[in-house]
Amino acid sequence: MLSDSYGRVATDLRVSLTDRCNLRCSYCMPAEGLDWLPSADQLTDDELIRLLGIAVGSLGIKEVRFTGGEPLLRRGLPDIVASTAALTPRPEISLTTNGIGLARLAGPLRAAGLDRINVSLDTLDEATFVRLARRNRLADVLAGLAAAADAGLTPVKVNTVLMRDVNDHEAVDLLQFCLDHGYQLRFIEQMPLDAQHGWRREDMVTADEILAMLAVKFDLVPDDPTDRGSTPAESFLVDGGPARVGVIGSVTRPFCGACDRVRLTADGQVRNCLFAREESDLRGPLRSGAKDEAIAERWRRAVASKLPGHGINDPGFLQPARPMSAIGG
Ligand code: SAM
Repeated sequence: MLSDSYGRVATDLRVSLTDRCNLRCSYCMPAEGLDWLPSADQLTDDELIRLLGIAVGSLGIKEVRFTGGEPLLRRGLPDIVASTAALTPRPEISLTTNGIGLARLAGPLRAAGLDRINVSLDTLDEATFVRLARRNRLADVLAGLAAAADAGLTPVKVNTVLMRDVNDHEAVDLLQFCLDHGYQLRFIEQMPLDAQHGWRREDMVTADEILAMLAVKFDLVPDDPTDRGSTPAESFLVDGGPARVGVIGSVTRPFCGACDRVRLTADGQVRNCLFAREESDLRGPLRSGAKDEAIAERWRRAVASKLPGHGINDPGFLQPARPMSAIGG
């Protein structure tokens, strides 16, 4: 098991498949992009699958979520999913993506064993998309969403980050769009994880504000909180249900006490928290011939030292050196 000294057990592994992305969302990356990881530093498919085998076979990982960067940019992704689905015990397999390329890949990913998908969509307006993501790809994202639903990756979940005076006026429209298409929408508070360190608390659209905007049009009733488990989103029934909307208040309503996540970067570093300031290298031991049990033990130690909370609201908070795109969101 991957347990820490506060009694939490990590069963959900977030795996970054690449730090590259084909969008430049302003809350995540600068317009010019970043210095990408050299490819020799990245785990190969075989190295990755060996680590996943250790995670599910010896460390109690039950869910593997592929992310990035943009995971659809990873060559051979359906094969990686298929190899993950062949592990024993088979983990749940999910993917977080910006949806570009999903129109082509949704079917092959489903056939390879992908169980669930989250697609990021921050706006329904083309001009706002270009302003926010600095690329004109809204049509591709919408086509990707439709393809995911057609491929049976349901319920398709949608992630939205609202930015003040950019897309925060679209909260109601985004929810209506998702209700109309049968997608499950979750709003995420903007976190201080952008590469350019531009996050400002006063610019963040809070969970309270999001709920107030939605309440103008929808009747929202909180789901039974005892059903929440370790999910980051607070869930609300919309207009009596069964449709729901989620709000992930990572900053103003932290949920660290119930966290069951651990992260593996594309270059083989374990992070016990998005906001961790330390990492544990698994790639080095892997490449120098360490046995599975030695790698598992290193992984256990990495999780054991997890702090009680992310610390964003502490006066001495320091942003981690890696941005979200290089950690895996
Ligand atoms: N490229 C994929 C995507 O767009 O979903 C996966 C990686 S992306 C880092 C994962 C999620 O993190 C996206 O939903 C994105 O909106 C969110 N995200 C990125 N930077 C964020 C930030 N500073 N605060 C909150 N969410 C953020």
